[in-house]
Amino acid sequence: METKKLYIGGEWVDGPLSKPNINPSNTADIIAEYACGQADQVQQAVAAATSSWPTWAASTPQQRFNVLDFVGTELLQRAEELGTLLSREEGKTLPEGIGEVQRAGYLFKFFAGEALRNSGELVQSVRPGVWVDSVREPIGVVGIVTPWNFPIAIPAWKIAPALAFGNAVVFKPAELVPGSAWALAEILSRSGLPKGVFNLVIGKGSQIGKVLVEHPDIAGITFTGSIEVGGQIAAACGRNMKKVQLEMGGKNPLVVLDDADLDVAVQVAIQGSYFSTGQRCTASSRLIVTEKIHNAFVSAMIEKLGTITVGDALKKETHIGPVVDQSQLDKDLEYIRSGVSEGARLACGGEVLKRDAPGYFLAPALFTDSRPEMRINREEIFGPVASIIRVKTYEEALEMANDTPFGLTSGICTKSLKHAQHFKQHAQAGMVMINLPTAGVDYHVPFGGRKASSYGPREQGSYAKEFYTTVKTTYTMAG
Ligand code: NAP
Ligand code: MG
Repeated sequence: METKKLYIGGEWVDGPLSKPNINPSNTADIIAEYACGQADQVQQAVAAATSSWPTWAASTPQQRFNVLDFVGTELLQRAEELGTLLSREEGKTLPEGIGEVQRAGYLFKFFAGEALRNSGELVQSVRPGVWVDSVREPIGVVGIVTPWNFPIAIPAWKIAPALAFGNAVVFKPAELVPGSAWALAEILSRSGLPKGVFNLVIGKGSQIGKVLVEHPDIAGITFTGSIEVGGQIAAACGRNMKKVQLEMGGKNPLVVLDDADLDVAVQVAIQGSYFSTGQRCTASSRLIVTEKIHNAFVSAMIEKLGTITVGDALKKETHIGPVVDQSQLDKDLEYIRSGVSEGARLACGGEVLKRDAPGYFLAPALFTDSRPEMRINREEIFGPVASIIRVKTYEEALEMANDTPFGLTSGICTKSLKHAQHFKQHAQAGMVMINLPTAGVDYHVPFGGRKASSYGPREQGSYAKEFYTTVKTTYTMAG
């Protein structure tokens, strides 16, 4: 089997080792072998980025537009092929995989436009005859570290703005899903970028990711992943005075009020909690339901879950694909056991399912009668598991929704404008969803959270420039 290589300084290079990329829907299916880099290859990638960065920093907005637009166009043209690869390596369903590749394409197109829209400010000085302008300049070499759950969209929403604003990139994807990252790198290798501006290093985070994060020539690290690793990265960046942006976990609430449309609420809860196998930082995991609608909501959820098909990500009839790997499946099952032992009622699901091929299939689990202090309601599970917390009033629901160390998304289903408006103002989260799933966001608006979910400037939309640029203020006196 051919081994897919690393991309360093404009060349495809082998690593000392390689690893198979395994399909979680069928562990006998090896997608390809991918090279694993070592520390000195990270050094080479950073050196290549450092020496080529000035050329790219001096490129015109038109050159940047052309590169990003090329990548966006090819992603959109190849969405079906690359979406199939994505679903095969990560396990989300084919429509979800194709949708994610399309989103990556639109992200590149959006940031192609942002390269043209990188405007500054001109003001008159308080001193006579002096003008002051403020412009945004690139920060330098950006290190990009991404998780496995969005193998192409998250890399896209970091790589595209980094390049749009004139930075060079060293990209380290999650080792579990190198296929989509490699395919994106291959497109970038043909996009017209000068050699060395974009580099791909694959390998274990605790080894090569760490070298990248601690490298003195890296100007900033943008990371999406777990809170544990995020904390280590923030500390390392703080010590070295690097710019840092972290997007981490969630424990997102969905409030369902008595006056909600029951069908809408069930649809929103099922989609937000279980689709993409619940492996989304924005997934709803705490369903906070007021008492008059509670029983009807529980029955409708159980009935709906009975119609959901869990299976091979690539099969047409599948609604929910497998869990990504054995260790995530073990973690999900451990949380399900802890929910039961702490006294929540497992109303349905939670068992490992057998399918034709060996894979990591888990029936979506719904807990009822759960209490806020249980582990299943405090810690991020990152699987198809949700729990219902019953409350009396809207006020209690809001308090419960905010009672978490996290603050990524927060949702409410209600027909009351008064409660929706109040919730929008008082939810302690970076993103609020009203009668919509907590997961599922647009590509042209800011993305990020509060509290332990995020650290540093927002990603995406026009806000992305905050991380990828630094401001220069110039005072000019006509001589
Ligand atoms: P993770 O274990 O934190 O890994 C994320 C990335 O960091 C991977 O590329 C990993 O490499 C790398 N890494 C691990 N240790 C490192 C270190 N010491 N130094 C530098 N890099 C290191 O997270 P994950 O399990 O892939 O993803 C799941 C988590 O991501 C969940 O907590 C989820 O909530 C979060 N997430 C957040 C968002 C958001 O936008 N807020 C979006 C998606 C996911 P390897 O895995 O290759 O070893
Ligand atoms: Mg895989």
